[in-house]
Amino acid sequence: MNEVQQKLLRQLPDVDHLLQRPRLLKWQEKTSRKAVRDAVRAVLDRRRQAILDGQATAPFSADAFDQAVIACLQHEKTGHLRRVINATGTILHTNLGRSVFSPELARHIADVSCHYSNLEYDLPSGKRGLRYDHVRSLICDLTGAEDALVVNNNAAAVLLTLASLTAGREVVISRGELVEIGGSFRIPEVIEQSGSTICEVGTTNKTHLRDYEKVIGEKTAALMKVHTSNYRIIGFTETVSPAALAELAHTYDLPCIHDLGSGLFVDLERFGLPHEPTVREALEAGCDVVTFSGDKLLGGPQAGIIAGKAAYLQTMKHHPLLRALRVDKMTMACLEGTLQAYRNDTARRHIPTLRCLAQTKEEGRQRAVQLLLKLEAAQLPADLELIEVDDCIGGGACPDVSLPGWAVTVKVEDRPPEKLAEQLRFTEVPIIARIVHDRVVLSQRTIGDDEFDDLVRMLGRVLNS
Ligand SMILES: *Cc1c(COP(=O)(O)O)cnc(C)c1O
Repeated sequence: MNEVQQKLLRQLPDVDHLLQRPRLLKWQEKTSRKAVRDAVRAVLDRRRQAILDGQATAPFSADAFDQAVIACLQHEKTGHLRRVINATGTILHTNLGRSVFSPELARHIADVSCHYSNLEYDLPSGKRGLRYDHVRSLICDLTGAEDALVVNNNAAAVLLTLASLTAGREVVISRGELVEIGGSFRIPEVIEQSGSTICEVGTTNKTHLRDYEKVIGEKTAALMKVHTSNYRIIGFTETVSPAALAELAHTYDLPCIHDLGSGLFVDLERFGLPHEPTVREALEAGCDVVTFSGDKLLGGPQAGIIAGKAAYLQTMKHHPLLRALRVDKMTMACLEGTLQAYRNDTARRHIPTLRCLAQTKEEGRQRAVQLLLKLEAAQLPADLELIEVDDCIGGGACPDVSLPGWAVTVKVEDRPPEKLAEQLRFTEVPIIARIVHDRVVLSQRTIGDDEFDDLVRMLGRVLNS
């Protein structure tokens, strides 16, 4: 520690002294002495650490200190989990909650959760019902599956499938498909957790049908295929198609399990994007059990959906793990609403994820112009520009696809873009934005129509302060 640091540390007032400051006394009346004391301690600790790290070099300012404590108290008041504006242009942003729901769907979730519901009650018979029945026939209609089950997420779907069908025996899987999905979900570890053993076949880039066939024996319980959602092997490659793998499995009376990752009910080619396998295609190819996420390209709640042959699903319904992995009524309400939108062919309008995906370049340009005009009308002291950007799908889906989009960029004199981006994160409705070169980029694609005004207001506060 150098002399300046020692001096700065000595300057820090004690907690009781700070609690007597007029603005903080007011907050003690509004909240409590304890709440304000905790906030004062937190800000003091932060300041002490910043001095030690050499990041705080200015003398102590009581006004700035008050402001930091009040910001801390306001943050507590609004709650920790809160809405943010996603200006990153990444549609399925795992850190920002992946999919977003329409207001109609949010009302349905609120209605079901603010009142009692028939979650496990069969209204016609007046007897106990099954929570899975609310969505079972919708999933079957949309995918052609015989039966379906819903659990907490796709990781849970894979775990339950394997624990029910292959525990104590071997799962045959290609080396090229032993992937890590992110957030520490690794296919080999999940297979082990299910009590099954892995039988790896082929190589990283090439696996042939004969590689699978060679290892099938007494201990084999299933052949498994994993869609390598988040990475691509290009060049000298070969994989076995789901159809060929299913046919081989059936020759030996084994199930073929397919972890699809992102569950798709619509063909992405309709939006001018490369083909991705849909759930229906995987089942039509002969796969016996298909698992996928509710909140990736499907655009629904966090959930794992298992669809496939009734006999296999029956085993899963009786497995004790199901209880540990079960979903609650809010998820059910949300999933049912999402699936209904697909069945009624209103998905593109009612599912924000699909709306973002389907946006054409011209629509994107028009929205960016609209945002730019609103920002210009607010006469902000900033340099604004309209640019073309590459947005992404995200969520570990289609890593090699970029979506041509439009954005408004912001630059403020004497304020580094990192500082501006940080200030945007500290506003009442935090804005999450990218930085490209020396500008903050606001991608219109992931900003809702109802968020444009909020964004202009927040930017105004930051720039005029
Ligand atoms: C995303 C993904 C998972 C995990 O799904 P969650 O719903 O996030 O648990 C599993 N397998 C594949 C192939 C995936 O892409």
